[in-house]
Amino acid sequence: MQTKSKPELLAPAGTLEKLKWASEFGADAVYFGAGYSLRSFAGNFDLPQVAEGLDYLHKRGKKGYITLNIYPFTDEYDGISELAGSIDDMGADAFIVADLGVLFALKQMGLKAKLHISTQANTMSAQTVLAYGGMGASRVNLARELSLEQIKQIQTIVGGSVETEVFIHGAVCFSYSGRCAISDYLTGRRANRGECTHPCRWKYSLVEEQRPGQYHPVFEDERGLYYFNSKDLALFEYVPALIDAGVNSFKIEGRMKSMHYIASTVSLYRQIIDGKPLTAQRCYELLSRVKNRGYTQGFMKGEINSDDYRLEENEACGNAVFVGNVLEESADDKCVFRVRNKVHAGESLEVLRPDGTTDTITLPSPLTTVWGGQVDFANNEEQIILDRKLPAFTIIRRVCS
Ligand code: SF4
Repeated sequence: MQTKSKPELLAPAGTLEKLKWASEFGADAVYFGAGYSLRSFAGNFDLPQVAEGLDYLHKRGKKGYITLNIYPFTDEYDGISELAGSIDDMGADAFIVADLGVLFALKQMGLKAKLHISTQANTMSAQTVLAYGGMGASRVNLARELSLEQIKQIQTIVGGSVETEVFIHGAVCFSYSGRCAISDYLTGRRANRGECTHPCRWKYSLVEEQRPGQYHPVFEDERGLYYFNSKDLALFEYVPALIDAGVNSFKIEGRMKSMHYIASTVSLYRQIIDGKPLTAQRCYELLSRVKNRGYTQGFMKGEINSDDYRLEENEACGNAVFVGNVLEESADDKCVFRVRNKVHAGESLEVLRPDGTTDTITLPSPLTTVWGGQVDFANNEEQIILDRKLPAFTIIRRVCS
């Protein structure tokens, strides 16, 4: 039977701190690595951190999924099974796997945790979803290369017998997710081992075979052509249709992204899934606060074309600078602001509360530190008292024009 209950919002975390931010800003579940995970630069959790992260989530009624989604070599399976066994004992809610051998090995172990199929498996059809279901997976991530119509077709055939998950936000590969060897060729860093150096974002030149060493820039304009540089996915407008189609989980990409990115994207999609009416203009305005490569609806709208790539430059843009966050709210309508980037007395800043609401505040002049000092500016890790009631975790940022 098709499930149409409120879907899960699934957020990334590259560190324990980001896991807490994702949870506080509204994620229902958080995924993170613990070795044998793609995104090896994203700071895989060690076992005590995994235990602490799962505990933090479970105490708040949320779930924690562990990524074990590399394509291992023959001699790595024992290590993966051993790790999975240890984490299963800690109460992991699911393991996210891509490789058939890992799926089989973990299924054989009879773990308490569920088994989810990663986007790395590039699942494109109802037949494959059902096949994974038959092999013991309870959930399958549908490939980012599918359109809404194709997802609806899959949902109709699968009929809720296997849960499905769709990426609704974040960076995309120009190839099928992760199925790319440019990084291997150019830098010796292997994308399918979580080591991708993102050479698809680089600028390329043309070299004629008989003229080695003569590099001809591939011009689109005076800044060049970033031929493979995909824009970031932003599918907030598709959320109602995907809920209606019965998709069970909406996933945000970005285990390597900042706390500011996690807070901003999670709080936006939390509100959208909860049915808060937000215009597309407001959504793009909120998303423009964080680093991005421009936004696209990718394959979800059907075909893709050159508008889905950011050909003219590879620098990520974003019109706000994260300057700190609220550490704690005090009883007397004040709060403690932990500074992470230089701020000045009297300047106007934007706040993003964990419930997604925003506001503008003006810093007092002079600034008062928690130690009682009076200063004109504050820098990294200093703590400032604000005469304002703001909940812990609130993000404070400087919006640039
Ligand atoms: S180089 Fe780009 S397309 Fe290839 S795996 Fe890395 S991010 Fe994906």
